[in-house]
Order: sequence, then C-alpha cells, then structure tokens
Amino acid sequence: MRILVLNSGSSSVKYKFFDTGKRLCLAEGQVERIGLPGSLLHHKRFDGDRIRTGVEALDHGKAIEIVIAVLMSENHGVISEKGEIEAVGHRVAHGGERLTESALITDEVRKAIHDCIELAPLHNPHNLRGIDACKQLLPDIPQVAVFDTAFHHTMPASSYIYAVPYILYRRYGIRRYGFHGTSHRYVAGRTAELMRRELASLNVITCHLGNGCSVAAIKKGKSIDTSMGFTPLEGLVMGTRCGDIDPALVLYVMSKENLTVAEATAMLNKHSGLVGISGISSDMREIENQAERGEERAKLALEVFTYRVKKYIGAYAAAMGGVDAVTFTGGIGSNSAIVRAKSLDGLEFLGINLDVERNRGAIGVDSEISSSQSRTKVYTVFTNEELVIALDTERIVSSLEHQRR
Ligand code: ADP
Repeated sequence: MRILVLNSGSSSVKYKFFDTGKRLCLAEGQVERIGLPGSLLHHKRFDGDRIRTGVEALDHGKAIEIVIAVLMSENHGVISEKGEIEAVGHRVAHGGERLTESALITDEVRKAIHDCIELAPLHNPHNLRGIDACKQLLPDIPQVAVFDTAFHHTMPASSYIYAVPYILYRRYGIRRYGFHGTSHRYVAGRTAELMRRELASLNVITCHLGNGCSVAAIKKGKSIDTSMGFTPLEGLVMGTRCGDIDPALVLYVMSKENLTVAEATAMLNKHSGLVGISGISSDMREIENQAERGEERAKLALEVFTYRVKKYIGAYAAAMGGVDAVTFTGGIGSNSAIVRAKSLDGLEFLGINLDVERNRGAIGVDSEISSSQSRTKVYTVFTNEELVIALDTERIVSSLEHQRR
C-alpha cells in the first residue's frame, strides 16, 4: 500500500511516502518555516535525487499541497496522480487516556484529539492542522492517527500516578503519560528480531536519546514504565530540557527572579539540559568535542547526562525484575559510543558487558555492542517511527476494506 506519513509541527511538516509492500520509503522531506518568510522545501527521492527550494507555505494546508505536488512532480516525483496515495498516517503527540491505540480518523477521533489539546498545547493543534488539511486535499482517502503516548497506556497506576492530591488526576488528568511511544515500540520489536527471540519473552530497556530523551521499561512487549511524564519535561537530561528536578526549585527561582509562568516554562524547556549546564550547546556532538578539549562544564554536562541514563537503566531493571537487553536509539543513542559507554559503565552487576570495539564500530547499522559473554545484550538501533506509522495505517485501512467487502 502507498502511504503518506505526516508529522505536522508548529512551523514544519515532515513527510515520508512509503510503499509498505516493499517496506520502501519512496520519498521523504520537509516543508519548513511555514507561515514565515523564506519557507523551504527539502525533498529526497529513494534514488538519491534531492532538491532544496524556496516555496510559499503560508499555512499547513499550503505546505501539504506542496508535498503532494512534489510527490507528483515530473522531475522529482514518485507518483503521477493524487489517487496513488492510498492512505495518510499522522503522527499525533497526545492521545490522552481515551486514545490508547492507533485509530482511523473519524469525527469522533478528531474530537478526542482536539480534547487532548490542553494536555499537549504545543503539538496537538499542529497535528490537527495537518489532519484537517488532508481532509480537504485528499477527501476520499482514509487517514489514521498514531499517538506518541499510546504504547505507554499499559503502564500500571503505580507507574503513572503522581503523589500529589488525587483530585488533580480526576480533575485535570494529571498523571504520567509518557512519549516517544512509537519509537520505543519499534526499537523493542527490532531488539527481539536482532536477538531472534519473541518480544513476549523478554525484558527490554529502550533508551531513546535524541534532542528529546526518554527510557522505557518494556516487559514482555508491554511498556510498564517510561521516564517522560505528564509532559516530555520529566526524566532524562535532554538537549534543552531539565528532566527530573526537585519541583520546589521552580517555585524558589520563580519567586527569587520574579519569573512569570511563561518565563519559568521557557527556562525549564529551552534553557536547561545540556545547554543549561554547559552554557555551550544543546548538541551532543558539540558537548563531546568541548569535553574532549577539557572544557569543564561540557565534561560536567556529559557526566550528568549519562549518570541519569544509568540511574534509569538500574531502576527499570529493578522494576522488571531483571533485564535481557538494553537498546540505544535516537541521534545520540545510535551514534555516540561515548554516551553509550559512560551510561553503561559500572553496570556489570546487571550482566552488562560492553564490547569496546563493537561499541566504537557500530556506525550506520543496527548492531549488537555487548561482548559475546554478556548475559544482558546491548544494541544500537536506528529508530523508524514513520515505518511504524505506515504499517499501522496499512493494517487499519486494510481491515476497514475487509469489513466493507
Ligand atoms: P530529534 O529528537 O529532534 O529527532 P535526533 O534524534 O536527530 O533529534 O538527535 C539529535 C541529537 O543527536 C543531537 O544532540 C546531536 O548532537 C546528536 N547526534 C547526532 N549525531 C551524533 C554523533 N555522531 N555523536 C553524538 N551525538 C550525535
């Protein structure tokens, strides 16, 4: 099936166009700076043909029109008419407690996504813009929503309830939801494949380390805990987000510095994490370079970042009563041998034995990086959330067609 996968953000639309039968991504790219001067289209076809060109993308509707046009373009396209797009799969940030699995977008599902705007004000409104634009541009084509939160709906209440007045959960839905679910799901499945084992027989810890970072405890294929919470701010240290902190410090700094809620939100989300500690950059490559040159705060940022990952691995091994595999993914997890080595240093008591050469040599492919004697296996995997979205979309649309017959 030919499926367009869309990730509609505040000022960008990222896309991948799949032939799911062949598991092939035919084309991918993004429209960026939507609604701003100097909008840009980056487009790459499976055969390596690439373009980067200025476009007029005043809103998400126009941006998606541009995407469809380039997919059909004579010189850079992969289809000749719109009808060759058989379905659209949307990445949607928050499904709340109601949307616990990927779903065909009906009026009811659209409303449920809309109802989650309060929980994800920075993401769900843009996701909905993408959905509404597709409804207009491709009115007869089924659309499916795949939620970042859905995979974690199996967490027990002991993982998701905060120790604050319970009425806040009832009144505002304040609980831990977790994010990056599509990635954790893919990476856990891929880990089982690499181990040639059934996921249902394994305890896996997946570490998604990108600009945003989270860890998940996946017991017999089900997420039982994850480090992001009510919002993506909780848990690991990230590029610009603080991760776990004492909530009292926020109140203290707000009163000392006379910060508004918006200013405190910006401090924790945009000026903390790697950039906050180092004062240099939110980019791990830059942190590693500066740390290697002996820059003290870059070294400290790297230490704090990896120590936090290590603590979560230990905690989740305890939560699951043991661990069979730890898998790293995301821009940092898939690429940084230093981060992986530091995060696992001292975890031999969990049966983890990193192979130094394999770890250094794991470049560009999914690989095992533990030694042959390691009781707990360690892998690096390149995540592929868009493929999961395409395959979920295909499954849902196919079963719909089946029911109609
Ligand atoms: P996003 O979460 O936005 O999808 P990515 O998963 O692409 O982001 O991760 C971005 C992070 O990956 C950045 O911190 C970047 O520095 C880091 N990264 C990419 N390549 C490397 C590398 N070779 N070594 C260390 N860090 C890397």
